Amino acid sequence: MSTNKYDVIVIGGGPAGMMTAGRAGQLGAKVLLIEKNDRLGKKLSITGGRRCNITNAEFDNQIFLDNFPQSKQFLFSPFSKFNVESTFNFFEGRGLPIMVEDRKRAFPKSEKASDVCLLLKKYVEESGNVTIKLNTALTSIIVTDKKITGVKTSNGNFNLNKLIIATGGHAAPETGSTGEVLSMLKQIGHSIKEPDPNLVPLKTSAKWVHSLSGTTIDDMALNFLQNNKIKIKTRGRLLLTHFGISGPLVINNARNVKDLLKTGKVKASLDLFPDLNLGELDKKFVQLFNENKNKQVKTILKELLQKKLAETILQIPEIKFGEIKAHSITKEQRKLLITFLKSLHFPITGTMGFKWAIVADGGVLPTEIDFKNMTSRIYPNLYMIGDTLNINRPSGGFSLQLCWTTGWIAGEHSALQT
Ligand SMILES: Cc1cc2nc3c(=O)[nH]c(=O)nc-3n(C[C@H](O)[C@H](O)[C@H](O)COP(=O)(O)OP(=O)(O)OC[C@H]3O[C@@H](n4cnc5c(N)ncnc54)[C@H](O)[C@@H]3O)c2cc1C
Repeated sequence: MSTNKYDVIVIGGGPAGMMTAGRAGQLGAKVLLIEKNDRLGKKLSITGGRRCNITNAEFDNQIFLDNFPQSKQFLFSPFSKFNVESTFNFFEGRGLPIMVEDRKRAFPKSEKASDVCLLLKKYVEESGNVTIKLNTALTSIIVTDKKITGVKTSNGNFNLNKLIIATGGHAAPETGSTGEVLSMLKQIGHSIKEPDPNLVPLKTSAKWVHSLSGTTIDDMALNFLQNNKIKIKTRGRLLLTHFGISGPLVINNARNVKDLLKTGKVKASLDLFPDLNLGELDKKFVQLFNENKNKQVKTILKELLQKKLAETILQIPEIKFGEIKAHSITKEQRKLLITFLKSLHFPITGTMGFKWAIVADGGVLPTEIDFKNMTSRIYPNLYMIGDTLNINRPSGGFSLQLCWTTGWIAGEHSALQT
């Protein structure tokens, strides 16, 4: 074999690429891993707020795959070979204990995404069969007689038996996921769904929301309305930011809100007391105002809500009652306050785009992949894994699990079939 020919060439040194290169090398294949950044796992190192939500600890494949409503049918086969339990065994077996938090989100106990990167880098290197080329970008895929035979890169050309594409999608392009390889795949005949930010925060023009940047509301209900009709209902934790709203609840509904925006204006309506209806909340305030007659409304509200949130709400012109003492509040003023606390409206003006997206829709259509081994249905020696595939899923560790599963399967198949 000539020195520039490899059994397997992997393009992209993210989580999917490292897993697949490591597995192929472990099984004895001569592997070249090509990454255009100056280090492996740039995006991986910022996942989960740098804590890395490594998977979702749902060990039942059926239930786990319910989170992939459009792609479930494709994923049963790969998940029958490498699933969440395999992920736990893989990482814990290599000395990285995993802990599980709410919504079954699993993180390394060290709470360091950098530890996940280090472990994978070690896995890539330990067989001695994988050559890593950093600062090297794929520029084109060479096809000869309907077969992939090599790649052109910014650092020379290489011949191959198998090519694995693990170059990600379009989300967070500053980490290297810029999507140009999807265009190359299109050029050689694959169908690509155009990218669209999916798991992404939402923007509002309401200044009072921006001024609450950094505030988290642990339990609230947030509805999205069009023409004053509720179209999307959510409940949970909300994060307010300098541009709008974020947090798992928002990003997991962003896709539906984005679709709604295509058909007209969208308003968000925030309910700060979701467990009480208007009547019950009014009763609560009548009692509170009676028990605290000489306190200002803002003092009472600050005991119920966070200080900054209470102060900001009481700056809204219609309910600027903060300075009034409880005994002087009229019934109408109290009712108006209650109405606002149950439905604070603000316009949604769009999403924060690719730069802020955790996942972008788009990529190679799953119908063009044989999920038994992750090969292309057009080129049997081409594999596509991780975010290069057009597979929707929510936040919570599902994206990385997809990388571990598809990476493992492609690495194994490419090595064993060499
Ligand atoms: C801020 C943020 C937080 C996230 N947190 C989580 C989380 O906690 N849990 C979770 O499950 N998911 C999370 N995700 C999603 C997750 O990071 C991705 O699904 C995952 O990184 C996809 O892995 P990948 O290997 O397919 O692609 P990527 O991680 O995008 O890696 C692709 C690699 O290919 C390289 N590349 C691209 N083009 C070329 C080229 N032409 N030549 C050579 N190399 C190239 C890139 O430089 C990059 O290193 C998060 C995403 C973001 C943006």
